[in-house]
Amino acid sequence: MRNLIRPHLHDIVPYSTARDESKAVHGVFLDANENPYKWPYNRYPDPLQKELRKAIAELKQMDENQVFIGNGSDEIIDLLIRVFCEPGKDSIMVLPPTYGMYAVSARAHNIRVKEVQLDDEFQPHLAGIAAHWKDVKLIFLCSPNNPTGNKMDATRVLSLLETFDGVVVIDEAYSDYSESEGFKGLLSTFPRLVIMQTFSKAWSMASARIGIALTSSELVSILNKVKLPYNINNLSANALMKQISKRSKVDLQIHKTINEREKLFLNLEKLPFVVKVFPSEANFLLVKVTDAERIYNYLSGKGIIVRNRSSCTGLDNCLRITIGTNKDNKLLMKHLNDYNK
Ligand SMILES: *Cc1c(COP(=O)(O)O)cnc(C)c1O
Repeated sequence: MRNLIRPHLHDIVPYSTARDESKAVHGVFLDANENPYKWPYNRYPDPLQKELRKAIAELKQMDENQVFIGNGSDEIIDLLIRVFCEPGKDSIMVLPPTYGMYAVSARAHNIRVKEVQLDDEFQPHLAGIAAHWKDVKLIFLCSPNNPTGNKMDATRVLSLLETFDGVVVIDEAYSDYSESEGFKGLLSTFPRLVIMQTFSKAWSMASARIGIALTSSELVSILNKVKLPYNINNLSANALMKQISKRSKVDLQIHKTINEREKLFLNLEKLPFVVKVFPSEANFLLVKVTDAERIYNYLSGKGIIVRNRSSCTGLDNCLRITIGTNKDNKLLMKHLNDYNK
């Protein structure tokens, strides 16, 4: 791992906060130039989020020192690029059609982006990847993939991990909606693997901005040194602690969404202008239609906003539809049934 990390970060000394220097829990705190009024908002949050980290580690059944907490997965993507890639020299690899932030983050740091399209089944094309991985430090996979909804094939992921000598990042933002195992189990065998998960989707906490990286403790320690000192604010951390304590309610909602997804899948398939509904292990469906733009505009006119993904290579005439409540989905179907009548 050490030889993959940019050399100037090897011995970087992180910013030392007042909270780092005094471990006192009780007392009169006159060390951080905080305002004494309006508790609890007046106090800086814990830079290493010890309490939240413990709760998340328990939830994910991981060692605490293998959990990094970011301001959304988006911060983690940005940090990984900063830790591993030399601007103007190194590259990342992405496998479109996929989430757009990997490429945007890389370009913001002047890191080149190499693209190798997923194959016809939306799976990684291993030979295509290997042919282009010179200078590539990070390969981003997304499983279940946004916007296609499918998981990456385990045999191919394993083979990639065995042959690529950089870092493989698997974004599991939607794994809570999948009934099969994710790739977390591979962490003990592959220290160069990073699993990203988020509380933005199945945990309903998008506005709190909390994502996690599960990886080797060595990388967690580097990420903690490079991140901004107070990347997770207290309001979000407390809200998430509360949500984690309601795990059974969250599980119930996930179950509901999966049920709705399967119902919507069957209903959409029956529509004459639907060419294909792609199987999904996430909280959305990718739907190929005869005329995506017309249907998008029609739905939009009815107050229903979906995502038109037609401009992505390989996704001609594809709409991505997020699974809503039973009522939302019924309304969507009502309007779609009326379309062209
Ligand atoms: C929604 C989503 C995320 C979540 O990002 P946050 O910054 O954690 O909200 C991450 N990856 C993918 C592929 C997503 O679709």
